[in-house]
Amino acid sequence: KAKEVGRNTYEFYEAELNQIAIRRHQLANEMRQAIKNEELSLVFQPQLNIQENKVIGAEVLLRWHHPILGHISPGEFIPIAENTGLIREIGSWVLDNACKKIAECREIGHEIRLAVNLSALQFRQSNLPESIAATLEKYRIPPKLLEVEITESMLMRDVSQAIDILERLKEMQIRIAIDDFGTGYSSLSYLRRLPLDALKIDRSFIDEVVVDADDTAITLAIISMAKSLRLEVIAEGVETEQQQEFLIDNNCDDIQGYYFSRPLAFEDFKAFLEKRSQQECSSSQSKANQ
Ligand code: C2E
Ligand code: MG
Ligand code: MG
Ligand code: MG
Repeated sequence: KAKEVGRNTYEFYEAELNQIAIRRHQLANEMRQAIKNEELSLVFQPQLNIQENKVIGAEVLLRWHHPILGHISPGEFIPIAENTGLIREIGSWVLDNACKKIAECREIGHEIRLAVNLSALQFRQSNLPESIAATLEKYRIPPKLLEVEITESMLMRDVSQAIDILERLKEMQIRIAIDDFGTGYSSLSYLRRLPLDALKIDRSFIDEVVVDADDTAITLAIISMAKSLRLEVIAEGVETEQQQEFLIDNNCDDIQGYYFSRPLAFEDFKAFLEKRSQQECSSSQSKANQ
């Protein structure tokens, strides 16, 4: 009997693994068409400086709407694209489009910074700095309006090569942020040697930051470390007013998360910027009148 149950479980597993493999295979194949068929799009999640209550920019997030399978999350398809190498093409599509959006925002008077996620493969591409430079040039945008996000694990794979790439990006005056900070195992002594601008505290710490003593301690430690290394610090995945208050009180610079705004389609993002700049304008006027 036990043997039978065991076998059934195994067969069930096998069937499920097959399903996963089939879907991966299907996604890998159909991703090739996705760019051409305009199934990829970008959404923009605003970032707020909580000390000054000012929008500082947005993170650019990739979306894939498959004609039959519907929405496929980047958490699922980015690793596949990374395996097939298609991430190179997708990554440069993202960069090109992000820069184009920076230019479009400037045209309507919003000098806004956009942050783009780099994949591991893209980061190690030897011509990455040149291709970013060419894209900035193409849309005539100042490099300080572009931020790249990389993860700790991408840095630690080959530290001296990573330093070399980062220094080339830094020379171009592009901003560099470490994404999902705290989840990898980066050595703190390396951090000091890297030309970084910001740390993004991973959302797994923010989730229970006001109720879990460990998460409180880790978040405070990251903020204080960032401050002493003169890095900006931004908290990801802020979903409640309590979390935001906690971060304001403890000197975190910026936040990003559903509480301030969900990721927005470009038209909605522009409307959001318009509305905010009217608010910021009237609140600074009322301060001046006081
Ligand atoms: P990430 O770079 O850490 O991006 C933040 C993720 O957290 C996004 O998920 C965002 O929608 C989500 N998020 C933001 N605020 C909240 C919140 O308050 N609560 C919760 N629960 N989630 C929140 P998304 O868009 O599904 O992206 C997942 C990951 O896929 C990203 O994590 C990033 O690693 C990767 N990714 C997305 N776009 C790109 C891209 O263009 N290129 C590359 N290489 N990777 C990308
Ligand atoms: Mg990111
Ligand atoms: Mg993150
Ligand atoms: Mg990530």
